[in-house]
Amino acid sequence: MAKKQFKAESKRLLDLMIHSIYTHKEIFLRELISNASDAIDKLYYKGLTEKISGISKNDFSIRIAVDKDARLLSISDNGIGMAKEDMESNLGTIARSGSLLFKNEEAGAGETDKEKKAAEKAAKNIDIIGQFGVGFYSAFMVADDIKVTSRAFGADTAWEWASQGAEGYTIRETVKDEVGTEVALTIKVDTDEEKYEDFLNVYRIRSLIKRYSDYIRYPIKMDIEKTRTLEAPEGADGEGAEPKYETYIEEETLNSMVPLWKRPKSKITEEEYADFYKDKFADFEDPLQVIHSGVEGVVSYDALLFIPARAPYNYYTKDFEKGLQLYSSGVMIMDKAADLLPDYFGFVKGVVDSQDLSLNISREMLQHDRQLRAIEQRVEKKIKSELESMLASDREKYEKFFDAFGLQLKFGLYDNFGAAKDTLKDLVLYTSSSEKKLVTFGEYAARMVEGQKYIYYATGESIEKIDKMPQTELLKDKGCEILYGTEQVDEFALKMMMAYDGKEFKSVSDSDLGIEESEEEKKKAEEQAENYADLLAAVKEALDGKVSDVRLSKRLKSHPVVLVSAGGISLEMEKVLRQMPGAENEQVKAERILEINANHAILSALGKAFEADKESVKGYAGILYDQALLMEGLPIEDPVAFSNAVCGLIEKTV
Ligand code: ADP
Ligand code: MG
Repeated sequence: MAKKQFKAESKRLLDLMIHSIYTHKEIFLRELISNASDAIDKLYYKGLTEKISGISKNDFSIRIAVDKDARLLSISDNGIGMAKEDMESNLGTIARSGSLLFKNEEAGAGETDKEKKAAEKAAKNIDIIGQFGVGFYSAFMVADDIKVTSRAFGADTAWEWASQGAEGYTIRETVKDEVGTEVALTIKVDTDEEKYEDFLNVYRIRSLIKRYSDYIRYPIKMDIEKTRTLEAPEGADGEGAEPKYETYIEEETLNSMVPLWKRPKSKITEEEYADFYKDKFADFEDPLQVIHSGVEGVVSYDALLFIPARAPYNYYTKDFEKGLQLYSSGVMIMDKAADLLPDYFGFVKGVVDSQDLSLNISREMLQHDRQLRAIEQRVEKKIKSELESMLASDREKYEKFFDAFGLQLKFGLYDNFGAAKDTLKDLVLYTSSSEKKLVTFGEYAARMVEGQKYIYYATGESIEKIDKMPQTELLKDKGCEILYGTEQVDEFALKMMMAYDGKEFKSVSDSDLGIEESEEEKKKAEEQAENYADLLAAVKEALDGKVSDVRLSKRLKSHPVVLVSAGGISLEMEKVLRQMPGAENEQVKAERILEINANHAILSALGKAFEADKESVKGYAGILYDQALLMEGLPIEDPVAFSNAVCGLIEKTV
């Protein structure tokens, strides 16, 4: 059986187009301007390849005109124009792109191999925007009548294509003085839902052009009505005289044409970068760092990225939206392409412009994210290497950066079960116990003392408080540096890091600090443990399940007692988890071990009391435990009982 061709149901298709492809009606202007730009590109390209004299880049422009009373908005160009047949096929057939055909034809031109190669190469440089053959019809979203008047390059006659939408179109001969195309839209009247007449407002048009078409390569011009004050006529006495105004028309170019990121780096001043950043991303401060790169490869793109000097006020909240602005051949496609930035570099602002994106038919989104992912990977690498070199070459600047966004990097260490820790491990800084200065893990590891197995860290409310923690005493005494973390995420991030360069992280509150002992020390410890075994057991019993063990400490120097933790949840984590909403009732508890300083007078005092009266340690055990809790910054169960017990002791001694 003979196959039948599917026929496009033009009417239905057009309806679909108008009502469901685009999320924003305003993009019609972007589409019509893009078409005008394509038409100019074609003529310019033709002029070059066919060596036609008199075609100069400077003569090209796109014009916008508004007639409010007639509700007319027109977009004109002096590009290649359309003959009658072109109108039939390109405007009469939905989803037929004359522009794409043009590019393909040019790419396939040439007789000999050499010519063919040259044509293919030349066509690669045609930066034509159109490809789907639907953009034009988006104008029906805002217009109920469209007239296209066009005169093709090299033709004497002009044609007018007119349509009121789905019902069809007419074509008739007309006159037009110059080569090119004018698209005239009769804008719909306002409805309850939609203020169509906004599209006749000069300011709205200007801002739409800035938003979507700022980098169209040809000037987009519009006559704009302005007013000026007239000087008071001579002889008249100034006082009381009404100032006189005059309106006049001035032609304005509405687009910047050459995007900053397409200009050679060497020709751009810092000030230009800063102005661009502040203007586009609404910051009042200069960026801390500018990253401008052009990439050629499987996916080619230009990127102009900025690291802000300060975190925006809503940065660490749900309201903050990360993302880079995405352009395809100079036309804005997406305002915040979130997929272009990993969360941990979410603070970066900027634009990415690529010719290699496969857009979906509305050109509002990307069809495959393969290219996007390729760009993301390169962008991520670039940001990382930029930060690394900042850290290496300008420590002060890096610390400023870290002050603003270090917390984000720490979240990045922890996120996704540490998936990004390799990327981030050399970018994170912690205050070190020795000089109270920020150090990297690498710097720490490089100066670990002889016999030190672990990278030690301690977390708490402030550097001052951590520095006073009893758990840090012995380590400091042994010359070991300790990393101090004051953010809630620190304990979690460092646990997730697990190790750096083969060296494990260890909390100073961990039950086993792995400090090497001499044979002598070992022996002494064993003896002591044996001597006090009964006492320690009695204290443990008195604490009635509050601790899993009571033992003599190897980490304390001057403090009598300390609480340490065993198992996966540390005391710091317990504190953080307790603060989480809904956690009040849940029993997240670190496994506690009470350590008593073996060299402290308290131990022998306890020993004596125990010998005299075994029951006496019950009261003391409670006091010691509560003390340890207080030092740890954890709440004690019964403050009144604690206070009474301490008073009791004072009474006894006085
Ligand atoms: P696309 O731009 O994706 O090709 P459009 O629906 O926007 O699709 O336009 C369809 C075709 O109409 C274009 O490919 C082009 O051949 C023709 N066309 C549209 N506008 C113009 C114009 N201003 N000048 C010349 N040709 C145009
Ligand atoms: Mg188009």
